[in-house]
Amino acid sequence: MNVLLIGPPGSGKGTQGERLAARLGLEHLAAGDLLRAEVQTGTPLGGRIADIMERGDLVPDTVILSLLMPRVLAAADANGYLLDGFPRSVDQAVEARKLAELADASPHAVIYLDAPREELMRRILARAEIEGRADDNPDTVANRLRVFDEATRPLVDYYRDRGLLHVINADQHEDEVTADILKALGVE
Ligand code: ADP
Repeated sequence: MNVLLIGPPGSGKGTQGERLAARLGLEHLAAGDLLRAEVQTGTPLGGRIADIMERGDLVPDTVILSLLMPRVLAAADANGYLLDGFPRSVDQAVEARKLAELADASPHAVIYLDAPREELMRRILARAEIEGRADDNPDTVANRLRVFDEATRPLVDYYRDRGLLHVINADQHEDEVTADILKALGVE
């Protein structure tokens, strides 16, 4: 099975992605984690990615596509993928779809984690205290939420039109969120 997990910053993609991948035996691919790993390499490309992430903007499509798609196709060839944080725009979805269709690696379901803005803010600022992520400061968070509304939210209609979308209430205990997702995927 191949599953996409989309949602605003703070909606719990990382937490749910890890749990679901383990439960379903899928490979967990997190776009943000792959980009942070690239930053750690200290290459010029890594430096540019770091600047963009610190502003809370999206890295260019070619960067994320070239990092992610080989892994996505390989995982689809194995036991399937649980992809979190990608796509983040309709353009990314269209590009990924062309490749995925050729390789028989299309998603079977798209999970959208929905939560109110105040709760997202609260969680991110609480996480900032613990993890110290460079992009978890109030200015960058405001921009990440704006980018989400403009670039990523249109994916909800895009995937609903394709009959793939499951909207999950992410404003509840993480165990309940996991249970709702498994139910939506038809796994008990
Ligand atoms: P969050 O969802 O909480 O913002 P992520 O770790 O998923 O956390 O993403 C962190 C940052 O990584 C984003 O703000 C963006 O700069 C970059 N990023 C992640 N995924 C993508 C993507 N698919 N396309 C472009 N940039 C991305």
